Amino acid sequence: MGKSLYEKVFEKHAVRKLDSGQYQLLMGLHLIHEVTSPQAFAMLRDRGLTVPYPERTFATCDHIVPTHNQLRPYQDTLAEQMLVELENNCERYGIRYLSPKKGEQGIVHVVGPELGLTQPGQTVCCGDSHTSTHGAFGAIAFGIGTTQVRDVLATQTLAMDKLKVRRIEVNGTLRPGVYAKDVVLYVIHKLGVQGGVGYAYEFAGTVFDGFSMEERMTVCNMSIEGGARCGYVNPDETTYAYLKGREYAPKDAKWDEAVTYWDSIRSDADARYDDVVVYDAHDIEPMVTWGITPAQSSPVGAALPQPSEFSSGEQPLIREAYQYMGFAPGDPVRGQKIDVAFIGSCTNGRFSDFEEVVKHLRASGKKVAKGVRALVVPGSQQIRERLIEAGYDRVFSDAGFEFREAGCSMCLAMNPDKLVGRELCASSSNRNFKGRQGSPTGRTLLMSPVMVAAAAVSGSVADAREVFAIQN
Ligand code: SF4
Repeated sequence: MGKSLYEKVFEKHAVRKLDSGQYQLLMGLHLIHEVTSPQAFAMLRDRGLTVPYPERTFATCDHIVPTHNQLRPYQDTLAEQMLVELENNCERYGIRYLSPKKGEQGIVHVVGPELGLTQPGQTVCCGDSHTSTHGAFGAIAFGIGTTQVRDVLATQTLAMDKLKVRRIEVNGTLRPGVYAKDVVLYVIHKLGVQGGVGYAYEFAGTVFDGFSMEERMTVCNMSIEGGARCGYVNPDETTYAYLKGREYAPKDAKWDEAVTYWDSIRSDADARYDDVVVYDAHDIEPMVTWGITPAQSSPVGAALPQPSEFSSGEQPLIREAYQYMGFAPGDPVRGQKIDVAFIGSCTNGRFSDFEEVVKHLRASGKKVAKGVRALVVPGSQQIRERLIEAGYDRVFSDAGFEFREAGCSMCLAMNPDKLVGRELCASSSNRNFKGRQGSPTGRTLLMSPVMVAAAAVSGSVADAREVFAIQN
């Protein structure tokens, strides 16, 4: 019986089996940022350790970066301190820092792929949950804690459990107005936020095969929200076309060698899986979360579920969600008045996300509704430059959106972009936990970028297919 990509990559990187039953796993690529690395470097220093493989670690800043402007020093002195610490650590240990001054800065899960650092068959880690994004390239990529960041800096290895593998197939053709974000929200809705615990998710079938790399990144990004430690798509011609010519992608003869290796780590046709689920693309509608976990979602026009539709174990969380959000079972989420619209994040802050929104804004001529604060925040400086070159910044500004500098922004509000009070935000990010966007009572509705734009111009949650006349 054949092997899955997960098994092949895991075996190639396993240094040895530990007495604990875990494996010592070599990490091909380590990405760091300002939030989880300072303590890890301090622990290294306390133990008199160095970084023996600095060429395998790359640093950027994202969470704390203000998006109005990036002028230094930052007004927030704590944020400024964190950035200075990162810069100093990179200099001290010889780590490449993707500097805002050189136009290389951006969200860690956006800049890694953008530079061609993320490649098929790699092991990738970062002190951030959404490292699963990099699985879009056929890498095994996962978030790690601060002490593990220390371990990787000191040894380039990690102690890891071997995961089970669930193959998630979505076959058929998506309806117009249904995007990668809707697909992954649908999968999480079906399997639950705990459904992936102990698993790696392999995304397969005609829908994922037909997706662009940016769409695959959206899907893999949210694997962690379904409980999976990592998620991946097998590498193919789409992957190779994306990578070719990027700064860190292999060149010349090394490119051909790399492609041969990348082809070899694809899941075998007769690979063994611990579980397989299959969905029909035609069943997927534009999805919106209505609760406080990414699984608490529904098609935009559907009536919200009754608590009695859930198991007795799930009902307390459902009631808590209704109480926090102020919604009632039976009501549709469509029509809920919004205060803020946010398009950005490592889930949906890439060029094609904005391009799709621009297409609909241009065609409809619609403007942001009165009273709605609408933010467009590119995932990286490079993306921001491309958007400006294409003239898309003006499309957004003319439509009433604030076109900002690159960063995490409102995804988690470790910077000045925050919700106020009980504001309701239509967001293209990945987490709708209580207080996630900076206000302890703020409320987040996750949806695709085009759905966020539809909400922004309508002033309330709306079906983008109706707002932008997308033919169904
Ligand atoms: S955009 Fe959000 S989820 Fe992604 S790295 Fe930044 S804070 Fe984390």
